[in-house]
Amino acid sequence: MAWGLGKAFTKLFSSARQIEAHDWDDLEDTLVQADFGPAVTDETLAAVHRVADASATLDTDDLRRILGEVLEERLAKFDPTLNLKSSTGQPAVVLVVGVNGVGKTTTIGKFAKFIATRGKRAIVGAADTFRAAAVDQLATWAERAGVDIVRPTVDGQDPAAVAYQTVERAIAEGHDVVIIDTAGRLHTKSGLMDELGKIKRVVEKIVPIAEVLLVLDATTGQNGLNQATAFLEHAGVTGLVLTKLDGSARGGFVFAVQEESTIPVKLVGQGEGIDDLTGFTPHVFVRQLLD
Ligand code: GDP
Ligand code: MG
Repeated sequence: MAWGLGKAFTKLFSSARQIEAHDWDDLEDTLVQADFGPAVTDETLAAVHRVADASATLDTDDLRRILGEVLEERLAKFDPTLNLKSSTGQPAVVLVVGVNGVGKTTTIGKFAKFIATRGKRAIVGAADTFRAAAVDQLATWAERAGVDIVRPTVDGQDPAAVAYQTVERAIAEGHDVVIIDTAGRLHTKSGLMDELGKIKRVVEKIVPIAEVLLVLDATTGQNGLNQATAFLEHAGVTGLVLTKLDGSARGGFVFAVQEESTIPVKLVGQGEGIDDLTGFTPHVFVRQLLD
């Protein structure tokens, strides 16, 4: 599986040779360009320097290995495990939130397939009732993934009602996982947060919400994170999904975003196809980043 991180480090590590002074500047530039953010870049450089200074022989292969270890250590502070525990009559409910256009609906389609592939039954709820086209878009993805969908019974129905109906049906039909699509934009930000709050309250009358996944578009970097502040402050986010990591050369965003939000990345989207979603595995991620 290619992470498509743009081979940011290829030039730096193209051949094993003695480290030269400019390599440190090049490493800094590479980390900044790959969207690691200033804080993670500085701390990573300092940590690599510390280990490197303690080593006797040092070539660029050592540098790559040390960098990999330092990065993996940073990722180890976060637990990427998705909570999808379900029991009879108690499906795991996943609420998917985020600003418009980041890839929520696409992610839900891929995620439904991801779950089905692991032998569980998923159902999706079209609680983005703000735009009529959003329901049809989710229906198309549900069909591709081979899962059921609960639609609004009337145009513009209360999203909380759709979410409730989806959970009710999941219980009646024995689905394991419920995935709820939500709107990314309403007339006001507080209106949107109130709506999400209501969805949660109404659903939690029947079952607890297992995950609130905030979807972030990796190509928008820090700006995208700023736009998502309201979700981080008010939506009870339990995990991040980073989309559009394919070909974006922005793999460092994973580090910046986790550390700034203190929320673990749990899923990564890297393409528009139904199979272009994976769980987040730090070791694999770092290897792909540096290879
Ligand atoms: P929503 O408004 O948050 O529901 O976003 P959508 O799911 O409608 O996606 C917006 C656009 O982003 C669509 O054109 C998707 O095909 C695209 N998209 C979503 N995820 C990815 C991804 O991982 N990689 C790429 N390249 N495009 C993506
Ligand atoms: Mg959508």
